Amino acid sequence: MSYLPWLGAISLTFLLLERVFPWRKGQPLLRRGWVRDLGFLALNGRFFSPLIAVLNGAAAVAATQGLRALGLRLDVSPIAQWPLAAQLLAFLVLADFFQWCIHNLLHRVPWLWTFHKVHHSIDTMDWIGNWRFHWMEIVVYKTLQWLPLAWLNASSEAVFAVAVVTTLWGDFNHANLDVGLGPLGYLLNNPRMHLWHHDQSTEGGTAKNFGIVLSVWDHLFGTAYWPRERSPEQLGYPGMQEMPETFHGQVLWPLTRARRIREESAMVLQRAATWDDTVIAPKVPLTARHPTKPAPGSEPVPSSAVGKQ
Ligand SMILES: [Zn+2]
Ligand SMILES: [Zn+2]
Repeated sequence: MSYLPWLGAISLTFLLLERVFPWRKGQPLLRRGWVRDLGFLALNGRFFSPLIAVLNGAAAVAATQGLRALGLRLDVSPIAQWPLAAQLLAFLVLADFFQWCIHNLLHRVPWLWTFHKVHHSIDTMDWIGNWRFHWMEIVVYKTLQWLPLAWLNASSEAVFAVAVVTTLWGDFNHANLDVGLGPLGYLLNNPRMHLWHHDQSTEGGTAKNFGIVLSVWDHLFGTAYWPRERSPEQLGYPGMQEMPETFHGQVLWPLTRARRIREESAMVLQRAATWDDTVIAPKVPLTARHPTKPAPGSEPVPSSAVGKQ
């Protein structure tokens, strides 16, 4: 079964729904950056499909072998005999929980957050924004997601269906549609709730609403924030001016930044090991931390000159 027709049908559905039932009525179809996001749709939705398939296969084999070595792999899957709909539901819930965990990590681990910033540079929300994310996220999500599915011996049909449902729900979450799902919003993610995940302010915390399909994880684990009667003032992340506007700029930027973060982390560790406090906290002038009396007749050193290193 091919993913491409599903991708086309889902994209077209949300394109039309946003035209017929727009939430923010003044939002144009061809808003700033739509060509770049179309590029992300093509790259992440189409061109990465073969790579995803290869990665999935490799991750599945590795996960299966690893689990078997640990004695955790079941010879007979406990759900293999279930009807396809029940299998799909079980895989969806498990995979969604893993994605919720991984999404948490994307916000909490500095070098992963650098990649995830591409998605959070969204300042105008619509369905195609769902596709603005760095390909490294596919590697992280898909590889880790395979672990529980391998353990349950997922059928290829059920795995494919989970991929389609996740695509559908991702586009839905980002769509310009005024949908909150009423009481079902405590169970399922939706455009109104996901808009708060993209909130630029610190209201309700800087990290909130990590759900992909199910919002119940956020409600269970205390990461839900959703004032239902209003929307965030501004979308994005503080300091998002650092993010290049162009497609290739956004694809390349996290790669260079992540390397710098790794190098800086290594430098800090090295300095900590040598106990060289002049470089661990260079922003505090040395004169302020270790005041010494100037020698008689000598010029005092301006603190600003010491601070600049
Ligand atoms: Zn996020
Ligand atoms: Zn999003």
